[in-house]
Amino acid sequence: MQTRKEPLSSAFLLGYDVEHQDPAITRAFLSRAVQLHREFDFPATFFVLGETLERNIEQFRQIVGDPLFDVQQHTYTHKPLKTLVQRNSSGVTLIQGGSLERIRDEVTRTSELLASSLGVRCTGLTGPYTYYRGLSDRPDILEILWDCGIRFLRTDGRNHDDWQPVSFDVQPYTYELQGFPQLLEFGIQGWADCLLREEIGWDNHEGYLAELRSNLELVVSRDLDWSYLQHDWSSLRADPELRLTEALLRMTREAGAIPETYAAYYQRVVGNA
Ligand SMILES: [Zn+2]
Repeated sequence: MQTRKEPLSSAFLLGYDVEHQDPAITRAFLSRAVQLHREFDFPATFFVLGETLERNIEQFRQIVGDPLFDVQQHTYTHKPLKTLVQRNSSGVTLIQGGSLERIRDEVTRTSELLASSLGVRCTGLTGPYTYYRGLSDRPDILEILWDCGIRFLRTDGRNHDDWQPVSFDVQPYTYELQGFPQLLEFGIQGWADCLLREEIGWDNHEGYLAELRSNLELVVSRDLDWSYLQHDWSSLRADPELRLTEALLRMTREAGAIPETYAAYYQRVVGNA
């Protein structure tokens, strides 16, 4: 089901998957990202891996009280929720998804960690790798996530090759057909930062910004929403000062898209999580 939203406004949802094993990377990213988002008064959501949160609890404690930021989860160990058959210029790769028991364990464990260490009630999740059609074909997984308290997802982030870009026609939708009308899928439109930068070259900042600029023009001209994915490690790679992120925040403001956290969008469009 297509969700209803305010007329003539494009929401821009920036969600960072925070997942690196090395706390030095995660901390360098968080420190600079938080500074930038405060400077631009620009909301953001951090989808943190349980293992990464355990190594950086103090850093996250400094974020959770700030209304600009929302902290959600990215599973505990980064096990995919669903198997991918990824086809790109390197060939075909099978990336095996976890069992239902494993999924329940990973999500429960991370939500408990968010609650006990940060006092956060977790309602949102980015699925590791993301998948073609999200979880539309897996009501069994949706049921587990719903049971675990998850109310919004970023899992529909791959095209029919389990690769990217994903069409901007894939707009946020609920899993009503599967029996979960209050479970919202945001998807990831276009490219995730790391896949695009790997494709065009990590030092090709101009090419990267040109793609972001054209996507912003597209969503604003068609009144679409854009759910965008960056990571801690990839935001820093070949850009330690996060100049590309800074440029994105500025371009979003200039284009007239409205930045919002995923939780705020859910509240506005679906209701209380
Ligand atoms: Zn990830």
